[in-house]
Amino acid sequence: MITTICFAVDSSLGKLCKWLRILGFDTILEDDFSASRRTALAKEGRCLLTRITALKNSPHDGRLIFIRANDPFEQLGQVITETGISIADVDLFSRCIRCNRTLSGVDRALVLNRVPDYIAETVDNFHQCAECGRIYWHGSHGNRMRRRVAQLFGLSDDNPSRQRMGDAEPG
Ligand SMILES: [Zn+2]
Repeated sequence: MITTICFAVDSSLGKLCKWLRILGFDTILEDDFSASRRTALAKEGRCLLTRITALKNSPHDGRLIFIRANDPFEQLGQVITETGISIADVDLFSRCIRCNRTLSGVDRALVLNRVPDYIAETVDNFHQCAECGRIYWHGSHGNRMRRRVAQLFGLSDDNPSRQRMGDAEPG
């Protein structure tokens, strides 16, 4: 059983990185997969995800998964299968897709002039990334992603507790 699930992905896996962040997992994009850097990442408890064939059979202290598929969604499926991640481990839309920082609630009044009018009129709760300033909210924007995540775990997407989410660039 993995207690904290976190990843380092090589720089060819940018879309997979984004998906793992959407699911709420601490995921860093890493250019340097040298032996010493891999050891450091393993000490941080990060599971390494790579498409670098040379690493496939090289010795490594921690967990390293060689990603086979080209499609990011299939890649994500492989990671879920091989790590044993369950839907209970997922905290959807809790982390900034761009910075990997966990989001915090933000005062509605502070962000209303930075989101589309129809969002300002209909949405009550907003979250913000302290790193890049991007604003996130529950809305229809993330509906497709939510459906795909449900598919990944073999669930239907009609669970009302799983809320939809949208986002905006910082103003
Ligand atoms: Zn951010």
